[in-house]
Amino acid sequence: MKLRISLVALASCLHFSSASQPGATQSTAWPARPLAWGDVNFLFTTDTHGWLMGHTKSRPPEPNYSADFGDFLSFVTHMKELAREKGVDLLLVDSGDLHDGTGLTDGSPTGQPNAHESNKFITRLPYDILATGNHELYKYSSALDTRENFVPHWGGRYLTSNVNLTVSDPQHPGQDISVPLGAPYRKFTTLQGRRVTAFGVLFHFTWNAPGTAVQSVEDLVEQAWFREAIADPPELFLLAGHMPVHLEEDPDVNVNDWPIVYYAIRQVHPTTPIFIFGGHSHKRNCTVMDEHAIAIQGGRYMETVGWLSANLTQGGGYSRRYLDTNRNTYHYHTQTDDESFDTLDGLKLTGDIAALAEKWNLHEIFGYAPQDWYLDRVDHPDKHSVMTLFLDEVLPTVLRLGAPERSHIPLLAIFNRGSIRYDIYRGPFTRNDQYTVLPFQNDFFYATVPWAVGKRVVDTANKKREDEGQLRKARQMVMPSLAQPRWEIPAVADMQRVFSGPEEQLTLGYVTKDLCEGYADDTIHLDIGGMDREDDFMSSPPPELEDDDLIDVIFPSFIAQPIVDVLNKLFPGQNYSVPTLPRYTAIQSNEVFEVYARHKWN
Ligand SMILES: [Zn+2]
Ligand SMILES: [Zn+2]
Repeated sequence: MKLRISLVALASCLHFSSASQPGATQSTAWPARPLAWGDVNFLFTTDTHGWLMGHTKSRPPEPNYSADFGDFLSFVTHMKELAREKGVDLLLVDSGDLHDGTGLTDGSPTGQPNAHESNKFITRLPYDILATGNHELYKYSSALDTRENFVPHWGGRYLTSNVNLTVSDPQHPGQDISVPLGAPYRKFTTLQGRRVTAFGVLFHFTWNAPGTAVQSVEDLVEQAWFREAIADPPELFLLAGHMPVHLEEDPDVNVNDWPIVYYAIRQVHPTTPIFIFGGHSHKRNCTVMDEHAIAIQGGRYMETVGWLSANLTQGGGYSRRYLDTNRNTYHYHTQTDDESFDTLDGLKLTGDIAALAEKWNLHEIFGYAPQDWYLDRVDHPDKHSVMTLFLDEVLPTVLRLGAPERSHIPLLAIFNRGSIRYDIYRGPFTRNDQYTVLPFQNDFFYATVPWAVGKRVVDTANKKREDEGQLRKARQMVMPSLAQPRWEIPAVADMQRVFSGPEEQLTLGYVTKDLCEGYADDTIHLDIGGMDREDDFMSSPPPELEDDDLIDVIFPSFIAQPIVDVLNKLFPGQNYSVPTLPRYTAIQSNEVFEVYARHKWN
């Protein structure tokens, strides 16, 4: 009772009637049925990309994901307590991409490394295993910051089995050495006495910064230390890693090297349980490889907390669930309410996140978006696609504003689709929204070429990327699968077993179709839909020109090398090279939405 009074007092003095971030719209939906606990259980996150404030907008489906990281901490604390009461294990796992994606990771006004402050918030969660993502490795400063300020906190729980960093050798000043970014593996015993061997694996990422090194997964499993680490049979293998758990359409995320690790372990241990926690493709997904091995991943942007449970002792079996991250979900599964849910540490984390957002001015309004624009629900040239807004309106407008001295030459702005990260919702468009749509800071380079060359750049770049993707796919080992795709089963039939109410009561959200048994989503929704992306390089509307007319082909520094390669192929003799490219404007890519909103949305 005493504890409850102090919680309420603290909540009121912090001005939180019910935690989450100020202004967040709470969900009205509830989970359909309780979780099925096993003797070993996992909660997992991946690709959080800085969304520690949760999703605060009121437009659907944002309220589904309105809990912040403080709420999540309270939830995990209650769940760990429930596990102790039940005498079972509950492990918390993250599969990487903590960087790049919101004002908390990208909005630092001091130029400090990306995610430096948000990583401190993550250390308040009791993760048992974390793995690195590709976004931790685009900049050496980020990777070094991870090693110096994030890894030490975890005491061997942050696993990078195939990622190294070059640092100066403390033993021999002036010399460099290559060291693992985190720990290569972890062997530990759970609270209930289970022996676990864990690895953290990244796909063979090749766009990493100089000074970081990613070993291919083929090479990893041949290492003597790896063979030695898997030699002793544990009671279970826990593999966290930043690769999707099955094949994807998009060549950029179709980097599933899990079968290589799976077979390497299965050669030695035919029936030891293997639990794989994937990431990178930003989808909810699950597949069963054999009777003792399952691979699962939990989406993106703190929209999903995944749940996986298994009975290792009594009759086998597993269950999995994708939880929407809102307080209803958290209350329901911990049998708490607004009064009893929040822990002191959870409230403190909520308050500290809000204070940082305030300090960095993340709620500053740049303008008022007149409608919704979606990333995944529709595609260019649909008028509700964020790609349409970006390519047809934002880029041409902002580049013209940023380089008036070049207004006499037509322009073609080329951008990679993957840089656009999220929806824009009708209403205030803030500094934080700018980072959620386009967090990456790039210069705009340009080359002036005849239209005969300029008009072929996008198609040629996409063709090259597609060919490389095909080559990779041909080499890829296929994950074994016990279950056949169940996609032909209408989701609605399955839904009726878990939801008995009328359809109009359903809210918009994910309806997951994965390869594991039974209905996967924790809260039943009307399907928000979505699409697979295939092409990556896209452009502003091509002008009407003659082949000899000159045009400025403009592109961000992130894709400068592939575009330069294409230009040199299409326009031989020019010898373009990235370091000598001129800059088109002083405006950078992560400022274009601010400039546009200030100009057009006020
Ligand atoms: Zn990601
Ligand atoms: Zn990734």
